[in-house]
Amino acid sequence: MRSIVWLRRDLRLDDNVALFKAACASEEVCLAFVVDPALLRSQRIGAPLAIAFFSALAALRERLRALGSDLAILEDELPERALAALAERIGARAVFFNLDYDPSAVQRDARATEALRAENLHVSAFVDHVVFAAEEIDQNDGRPYRVFTPYKRRWLDRYRFAPRLPVASERAVRRKLLRSEAIGGSRAVPQAREFGFADNPRFPRLSERRALQILTDFTAEGGGIARYGETRDLPAADATSRLSPHLRAGTIGIRTCVARAFCRLGDPASGVRRNAEVWLSELIWREFYQMVLRRFPHVTDGPFVAAAADIAWRDAPEDFAAWSAGRTGYPIVDAAMRQLTTSGWMHNRLRMIAASFLTKDLLIDWRSGERFFERWLCDADLAANNGGWQWAASTGTDAVPYFRVFNPITQGERFDPHGRFVRAMLPELDRVPDRFVHAPWTMPPDVAHSCGVRVGTDYPLPIVDHQLARLRAIGAYAPVLGRATHGSR
Ligand SMILES: Cc1cc2nc3c(=O)[nH]c(=O)nc-3n(C[C@H](O)[C@H](O)[C@H](O)COP(=O)(O)OP(=O)(O)OC[C@H]3O[C@@H](n4cnc5c(N)ncnc54)[C@H](O)[C@@H]3O)c2cc1C
Repeated sequence: MRSIVWLRRDLRLDDNVALFKAACASEEVCLAFVVDPALLRSQRIGAPLAIAFFSALAALRERLRALGSDLAILEDELPERALAALAERIGARAVFFNLDYDPSAVQRDARATEALRAENLHVSAFVDHVVFAAEEIDQNDGRPYRVFTPYKRRWLDRYRFAPRLPVASERAVRRKLLRSEAIGGSRAVPQAREFGFADNPRFPRLSERRALQILTDFTAEGGGIARYGETRDLPAADATSRLSPHLRAGTIGIRTCVARAFCRLGDPASGVRRNAEVWLSELIWREFYQMVLRRFPHVTDGPFVAAAADIAWRDAPEDFAAWSAGRTGYPIVDAAMRQLTTSGWMHNRLRMIAASFLTKDLLIDWRSGERFFERWLCDADLAANNGGWQWAASTGTDAVPYFRVFNPITQGERFDPHGRFVRAMLPELDRVPDRFVHAPWTMPPDVAHSCGVRVGTDYPLPIVDHQLARLRAIGAYAPVLGRATHGSR
């Protein structure tokens, strides 16, 4: 039997469940990707994410061609139509794919499955982008978890009892790849300009090989994982794995990452074990938010906590524009936003600070921030982005309490103590002494004069007074969330 593996957020050969299953069930396998021009032209996809995917497609095609096969790149707003035509052309009888919990993908997949089955094709879907399916980690009474720590405990128990190890899909499929001559006409790898995306060489380029190298370096002896817990909050240290765009496009499998983390949990040095545990926890946060999206899909366009729908957000386009442009007058927030818009990625601590500033200091609806991040992140992922925003806005499951408002000055002092990160992103503050770098408007005139920075001209004055803004936020949240039980709906 010939089969098609329909790739979507799993652009790799190894540790790919659908590919493994297809290889086991078939004599020949053809890998396909369907470009959806409507999606690419929609507001939901930004240049960094699109470019990340295009680069991963190019790398995968190159690998398949080196193996004598090809990646069938098709284009259609209806993937089922493109896949059915491919199946007819190559004589395939089955389509395999991996599930995606994004509600719009769930809808598309249900429609495509029905249409493909109507064409007499066998269709099989698998859990791949998470270790455990959303329904596998439940409370004793069968209800989904709403709080991370017990979810994580159960996740770990389950993994230790029955680990989900990486699947050897590459080995299984190598000899079964359909020859390129049999695949025939498919389109070129999409290019940024074709869909109106402005390219930037700083946006990450992805490939399976690169992802594996990053993971290997990060988890090797002496790699970043050994200090992760101590350094992960320091943006200047650049001490996190940077695997997020790879996990998003699937140039690495989550089981491979988890297995490597588990290897380091057995390290003889207790410090390494502790740090590896922290990194593993982050991978489980990723699973938790995927579970939340699948089990509580209403989070896609509304708060997890129903009462939070009544928060009176401000309509403040000028403040939103200042935040987006990195011109709030708070250096750690501005540096964060500049990192995002110049590189397509933002450090996790900064995502929390920037999101807290928008939703609390500016009291602007988290959905505007979520959409902005979605368009600028190379790792933009509905589950993690929504989870992160609702966490910061105190509207989500297991979120930060509403009265905890990050202070952008002390956050800067704590996590960028010498202003190294801020100066790297905001060269206009380069000569500001360390003491004032997170609050430049407090510089006495003689200091400002000697470092040559005119606050209000060279760099903006703060657009809000943090202390007043904090009180305003608490005043807006308290009547709504003061009585609400978090996690209930
Ligand atoms: C407001 C906000 C928005 C976010 N939006 C996204 C997003 O769109 N896509 C995304 O992948 N992550 C998002 N995150 C989570 C986190 O910031 C990034 O995953 C992380 O910064 C990626 O860097 P890294 O790969 O070096 O992570 P590492 O620190 O090395 O962590 C390893 C992996 O664990 C996962 N992970 C880490 N932290 C989290 C978390 N808090 N939630 C979920 N998964 C996590 C990621 O897949 C990450 O690659 C968001 C966080 C916040 C606060």
